[in-house]
Parts: sequence; structure tokens; C-alpha cells
Amino acid sequence: MSDQDAILEVFREAGALLEGHFLLSSGMHSPTYLQCALVLQDPGRAGRLCSELARRFTQSDVRTVIGPAIGGIVVAHEVARALGVKALFAERQDGRMTLRRGFAVEAGERVLLAEDVVTTGGSLREVQQMVTAAGADVVGVASLVDRTSGRDPGFGMPLVSLVAIDVPTYPADDCPLCREGLPLVKPGSRATPGGA
Ligand SMILES: [Zn+2]
Repeated sequence: MSDQDAILEVFREAGALLEGHFLLSSGMHSPTYLQCALVLQDPGRAGRLCSELARRFTQSDVRTVIGPAIGGIVVAHEVARALGVKALFAERQDGRMTLRRGFAVEAGERVLLAEDVVTTGGSLREVQQMVTAAGADVVGVASLVDRTSGRDPGFGMPLVSLVAIDVPTYPADDCPLCREGLPLVKPGSRATPGGA
């Protein structure tokens, strides 16, 4: 499943990657809708994708996988399962990424950071700083999807992803898809129980 087209097909089968004319939660319009949670809601798909991602780190002597909440929780857990190590998640408290719930890392602990989608990489950089400040070693940064469109997310090490997906965005008042007259779809609105 290492081939990019095969990975994209898994996303499409799950309805996690759609093409058309979409209203994003940001209010922007896009020809691409990506919702990683829809591929991860199936534990079988989540396990297969994360095993493939974990395979890139079998030589990295990883002891702990940490994902930023919420998107990174399932990915960190499934990558950790594949590597046979523990999974933690970081979450915001008073605006700062932190380990709560008794989670901790030790000095020298080899940590892999995992996320579902990296766009700017901001949350992961915060987790990286927090882990490094605790004296642990970040040995890799992994995500299912690379949405950086070639921008450097600033980890000081390569971002390892299964697939790169570009999600162009347009302001509602300057959208080429609107000008073409394509109907605008709000993803998920039809599937909401009780209707929206
Ligand atoms: Zn539009």
C-alpha cells in the first residue's frame, strides 16, 4: 500500500477525499474536501494506513509515539501499535501544548511525533518544543497526509507522510468554481443525523 494512488483510493473509498466545490469550515471554497477522521473512523483502514506509516520508522528505535489532540490521537495510537511501543497524546491547557493525565517523557526517550494532517505544522512544532524541553529526543515527524504544498513546516527534520494532498482554497467572493456556476456543497451536511 505504499503507492500514493493506492493510499488516495483508501481515502476516496472512505469518503474522506472528495472533488467538486466545497464550503470549508473556514468559510473558504475549495475544489477538494479532505476529512481524515472519515478514513480513521474505520479501525481496519486506520490500522492499515498507520502500519504503512510506521514501517518508515522501524529502524528508528522509537520508544514512544506522541500525537497532538485531536487529530493525532488515533494516528499516534495505531502507529504505536504497529511499532509495539506506547502512545501518548498532547493537548492544550491554557493555550499551551502539554502532557496531562499522568503522561510523561523521560530524558533521552526516543519519541516519534504523529499527526493525521500537517498543514502549517504549528501544533506539531509546539509538541516538538515541549518534548525537547523535557529532555527527550524527537527522532521523527510523521503524518498520514502532507498538506504543506511544499512549504517547510519547520521541524528541522523531514516530515514523513504517506501522501501529499493539495487543498487549494479561495475566498467566497473570488472563487473560480463559483464563476463556473458549480453548485457549492457543504461537506457532511447531508449525512448529519436529524438534518442541518
Ligand atoms: Zn466557490
